[in-house]
Amino acid sequence: MKILSFRFEGKTLFGPKVKREEAVWNVLSIAEAYDVPNFPQTIIEGVAAGLDFVEQIRQLVERALADDNPNRFKHAFTDIEWLAPIPRTPKNILCVGKNYAEHAAEMGGDLPPEKLMIFTKSPTTIAADQEDLPSHEEKTDSLDYEGELAVIISKKGRNIPKQLAYDYVFGYTIANDITARDIQTAHGQFFLGKSFDGACPMGPYIVTKDEIPNAHNLSIVTKVNDDVRQNDHTSSMVFKIDEIIEVVSRYVTLEPGDVVLTGTPAGVGKGMNPPAFIKKGDTVKVSIEGIGTLVNRFV
Ligand code: MG
Repeated sequence: MKILSFRFEGKTLFGPKVKREEAVWNVLSIAEAYDVPNFPQTIIEGVAAGLDFVEQIRQLVERALADDNPNRFKHAFTDIEWLAPIPRTPKNILCVGKNYAEHAAEMGGDLPPEKLMIFTKSPTTIAADQEDLPSHEEKTDSLDYEGELAVIISKKGRNIPKQLAYDYVFGYTIANDITARDIQTAHGQFFLGKSFDGACPMGPYIVTKDEIPNAHNLSIVTKVNDDVRQNDHTSSMVFKIDEIIEVVSRYVTLEPGDVVLTGTPAGVGKGMNPPAFIKKGDTVKVSIEGIGTLVNRFV
């Protein structure tokens, strides 16, 4: 199931895409019309319920389809404001660094790190698909893109063994780990250079894990103005998703709605000769097989 978050008439809502239509089901309005008890009121409450949430949504859509006027529960994409699938994470966005060997090499290291490399981005970086993003020209001359597969955590957990890691995954989306390279290196830690407003667009959808049986079998492509810059496959990750969850949850309690960015392939602007950073007016598109394409223009 593809689930999106959106704003309509001032309310933050969520729902699945309507099949064969450019529209979304407003599942909260279906639950309200039919007096369905205990339906999650926020996307975070929903992802915490895991695949039961997906089943609840399916049943609500069936009810709507059987309604005399199903259209009253739909909103055309042209009538909504898209939000990131998780509009606000419960903690900083967790990010894996140098998780594709060729990218580790282009950033000036010979080998990817032996131990998982983790940094975070502020939740205020979160932006939506199709949202225009600031190019921050007054603060940086080296804004860069990093197309990445993002994992949405479902239930709360710590000390999660690798073998159970996927029980804690709700689904996947696409992220762009926008980075000011000069600020990333100027301050010792990555945090400031990774946390500019708009530096974590995500979307368009969460694709639930039942539709992606193997998240390490997906092509990932990033284009800047239709010029292919990154073109790899999620099988190239050094640390796989189950190991990332095992290591992170050893030290940090994972919570529903946490997002983990799994690292970027080679081909970032800094790795080019000469470097080619994002300029005002550029459009960056990140496509992942089975999920879709995340598109943002820089203004
Ligand atoms: Mg990254």
